[in-house]
Amino acid sequence: MASPGALRAAAVNVDVDSLYLYYRIHGLDEARATDVVWERGVVRFAELFAELGVAATFFVVAQDLDRPGPRRVAEALAQAGHELGSHSHTHPYDLTRLGRATMADELARAEDAISAVSGRPVRGFRAPGYTVTRELLELLAERGYAYDSSLFPAPPYYLAKAAYMAWLRVRGRKSQSILDRPSIMWQRRTPHRRHGLLEIPVTVLPWLRLHVIGTSLLQLGERGYGVIAPWLRRVDLVNLELHGIDLCDLAEDGIDPALRTQPDLRVDLATKLALFRRVFTDLRDGWGVDTLESLSGRLAASAA
Ligand SMILES: [Zn+2]
Repeated sequence: MASPGALRAAAVNVDVDSLYLYYRIHGLDEARATDVVWERGVVRFAELFAELGVAATFFVVAQDLDRPGPRRVAEALAQAGHELGSHSHTHPYDLTRLGRATMADELARAEDAISAVSGRPVRGFRAPGYTVTRELLELLAERGYAYDSSLFPAPPYYLAKAAYMAWLRVRGRKSQSILDRPSIMWQRRTPHRRHGLLEIPVTVLPWLRLHVIGTSLLQLGERGYGVIAPWLRRVDLVNLELHGIDLCDLAEDGIDPALRTQPDLRVDLATKLALFRRVFTDLRDGWGVDTLESLSGRLAASAA
């Protein structure tokens, strides 16, 4: 690929991780999981995107589409012009350790379920827990994916995750999340070809490789965002990753207080909406927001 970094554009994408996955990350019993991530968080994102006139990518855990509530929301997203990408079928955090046949099965089942809702082939993939291997990327390329967007080369995020998993172990709880190789922290942060497939990494800043995702924006708040905004403007291709839970509200959505450990749930909804409205508006006006699928086509064309 010649110089795909020359393209100036932004993508906003939402990983739709349902509550049951947060119980698993924090090593808690998931019996009280509900569908508020789909029915509240994702719906609020869709409303905000409609208000601002931007098209986004939603990475869907395909087994969720078996439930009528999530399925209705996903159908509405596709009808509104958003891209539905694959976030695997069951979101196994150890997907890359399950062997080629199981990985292929996860991909195939997700493709079938998601394309049945969107009416279009699935073109993009985000791995559970951001973890991919050469084998998984080659499998995606073979299956005709246009891009992967799982690489998250962020040392501050990586070290915080490692520390949190160690803390859970000390407390006798076991996260189902797995830790990638440390070398992931220093991988390329701009789009590139990796094992036969276009990789569009999740954005980290040129400064400290600080990650800019929904969770970190919520921790920074509007003032913190003002501080990093000049650094963000130096990034040609912004790939902003969010999670459906980022627009959920602990009290209003009746979420189990045990999940308060999740930083996205410690900020009230009005504050979150105001911050995301400002960030998305900046991306729309300063870069232009497109789906990752569309960006992958433009990157390929600019490299040709
Ligand atoms: Zn996920």
